[in-house]
Amino acid sequence: MKHLGCYTEPPVNAVDRQLFRASTVVTLGDGKRASFWQSAWLNGRAPMDIFPDLFKLAWRKNRSVKEELEHQSWTRGLWRMESVNEMANFITLWDLVQSVQLTEEPDTIRWKWTSHGDYSAKTAYNIQFAGSHSQFQGSTIWKAEAEGKHKFFAWLLVQSKLLTADNLSKRQWPCDPMCSLCSQEQETADHLILHCCFAKEVWHLMARWTQNLVKIPDMGSSVATWWQQELTGLPKKLRRTKAALLMYTAWNLWKERNQRIFEHNRAIATRVFQEIKAEILIRKLAVGGPVVPSDPC
Ligand SMILES: [Zn+2]
Repeated sequence: MKHLGCYTEPPVNAVDRQLFRASTVVTLGDGKRASFWQSAWLNGRAPMDIFPDLFKLAWRKNRSVKEELEHQSWTRGLWRMESVNEMANFITLWDLVQSVQLTEEPDTIRWKWTSHGDYSAKTAYNIQFAGSHSQFQGSTIWKAEAEGKHKFFAWLLVQSKLLTADNLSKRQWPCDPMCSLCSQEQETADHLILHCCFAKEVWHLMARWTQNLVKIPDMGSSVATWWQQELTGLPKKLRRTKAALLMYTAWNLWKERNQRIFEHNRAIATRVFQEIKAEILIRKLAVGGPVVPSDPC
């Protein structure tokens, strides 16, 4: 059972529980009773049964749907994922979770094999494959010289799936609509990562450090066009390096945004830039890339 981390159920009990999950359907209400990973609330199946690889990585395996949806804390341990398969599963689960709307009613549970049983193979098929046929060409992301968490973050960013204020309010989740980096404009991914005056300071430092391999983003561009334009036409090796540099920068801007909102800590742009350099250096020491053009070492 070692590989299951803190999941310490004895096997016989685990089998019983699996049968129980397979035989019940949980309909979410307020999300307080259903377990995020272990209840069959996702179209009649439990996330741990659909995505066992992700379940292994999850830090807390017994929290309720409501607890895990707040601040997306179900994603926490999952940043450790390494394989493309794990990431594809994560993305599928992410999409499914985004469509959840909790209500005031308590969660309900019913026995699947009695009455009309609206559980069907088609539902299972839809769950397995929902979201996995995206039109988006992700190879510039998956091949970047960066870690899994950066790649996954970039994938969310480029697909407009980051939970920025505009996306949160579309889901009627309460949040501060203003950008926490500048407090002057509404928070969207385009603003936060590309056009915010704070972000621009960081991009400026990156441009100087990389001898303009990384550039200050153009006015008005969207994240998706920016990502494509910055990487089109580059030789393969340089494209992988540059994609990584863009990711590390965007990721650290997002981290700074989260620090401000959730930890009430503020860093200045130079500090964020130092963090980016430090992260890239660690990566370089570990696996040899990305190599920044101006970097003497
Ligand atoms: Zn801003």
